[in-house]
Amino acid sequence: MQPDQNEPAGIYFHIPFCVKKCPYCDFYSTTDLALKEAFLKALMREMRMLCDFSFLFDTIYIGGGTPSVLTAEDIDKIIETTRQFFKISADVEITVEVNPGAVDQERFAGYKSAGVNRINIGAQSFQGINLEFLGRIHSEKDIIPAVKWARKAGFDNMGLDLIYGIPGQTRKSWLFDLQKAVDLKPEHLSCYMLTYESGTPMDKDRQEARFCPLPDNLVSDMFVSTIEFLSANNYVQYEISNFALVKSNKRADKRADKRDNMSKHNRKYWLSAPYIGLGPSAHSFVEPVRYWNTRNVIKYIKDVNEGRLPIEGKEVLSREQQMIEAISLGLRMTDGIKTDVFDKKFDVSFKKIFAETIAYLEEDGLIRLTENRCSLTRKGMLFADSITSMLI
Ligand code: SF4
Repeated sequence: MQPDQNEPAGIYFHIPFCVKKCPYCDFYSTTDLALKEAFLKALMREMRMLCDFSFLFDTIYIGGGTPSVLTAEDIDKIIETTRQFFKISADVEITVEVNPGAVDQERFAGYKSAGVNRINIGAQSFQGINLEFLGRIHSEKDIIPAVKWARKAGFDNMGLDLIYGIPGQTRKSWLFDLQKAVDLKPEHLSCYMLTYESGTPMDKDRQEARFCPLPDNLVSDMFVSTIEFLSANNYVQYEISNFALVKSNKRADKRADKRDNMSKHNRKYWLSAPYIGLGPSAHSFVEPVRYWNTRNVIKYIKDVNEGRLPIEGKEVLSREQQMIEAISLGLRMTDGIKTDVFDKKFDVSFKKIFAETIAYLEEDGLIRLTENRCSLTRKGMLFADSITSMLI
């Protein structure tokens, strides 16, 4: 199965620096900011090495790490070099992730002049006690100014990230965070459940019983409350953790609003669309091949400077693996799996293969099957992982 060269692709840049490591995070980053200049030079070289990609790119996502440790000039250089080496669509979405504790008004204005048109702010919580538990560098007082500066700089496409399921949190205190977030009217909200990733300091503390995680039923209750609260406030869920603001009440306009405010870049991951990742630990996917860069910035710089692509691993997905991915990623989206597309792509009948399991899951109110779609119900989303494994 050859990749469709007509399908627009995405570019992801991993900026591997953080002011301080958060104990729950397993993304690759270092606090050695002295490496920044060498890293940026290597990133430009990596772009040059990859310039023969013939895809048209319609999303650029600068994530990390903490990309807002980069100056406006750094971001400008990254975007300018991207335009120099790759074919970029006229309506490209260019997102920068911002940490409210590592940004100021001037930086937002500079990012805007550099061509960034979408900002994603890692708010996480509006309560000091939660931010402290998460080990964040910002306080709740930093979030509102960051949003205001971004708006003042002209950003009309903004996302906020929040985390729930934090020890000590109650349903009421989570709803307080959601209310604070919707009061700011971001176009996009991501609400992530706190997970204890193996190997992180927070997971070690959990295993050593240094704190008490919230019971599963309370976390599930928070998940359901999130969907109910946000839908009452005009945010439409389009993926398990992601919500887009709709401003109009008319059905057709609502659909357009939702589409406009979704993260065009993140949708590529869930739809198995092509993307390339640059920087340490970044992953790339051009069906059926996935490969990923080294998780070490020093090795990354060395490899690139010596003319080698910094690739650490690669896998070629078999037809079965591609089917599994299409199911597990498709079920994350509220639109679900497009069964007609699935059938055409894999030359099978989705409904026939999974008839028995789907009938069972439908009876339990966990899955919904329509003419051309198979999606999880709200209840089903609570068991997304186990339902996926029943289907694969
Ligand atoms: S700031 Fe973000 S990337 Fe950096 S350690 Fe914290 S959660 Fe991870």
